[in-house]
Amino acid sequence: MSSGRNTATRDRHRRYVARGKPPCGLCGSEIDYTLPHLDPGEFVVDHITPLALGGEDTLDNKQAAHRRCNEIKGARATEDVGPIQAPRLFVTARRW
Ligand SMILES: [Zn+2]
Repeated sequence: MSSGRNTATRDRHRRYVARGKPPCGLCGSEIDYTLPHLDPGEFVVDHITPLALGGEDTLDNKQAAHRRCNEIKGARATEDVGPIQAPRLFVTARRW
């Protein structure tokens, strides 16, 4: 059992995030929670601050997202970040 990092916690968080069936945190559209696994519109858990960027694997850092949106975000983050941590990456939604 060397692989599989705390899947029980992950499953529990997934259920919490899905509770109340919130809309996608990335595009704002509703999510069809009945879609089958690997469907582009499927519900997945998105890390608001990606783990690769120092985000934590906690409920506070998790939100609901479409599989499609999560993959787009992930690809963009990987492409933009490169070897440098660019602060502008975190300014996805202006708060001022
Ligand atoms: Zn979405």
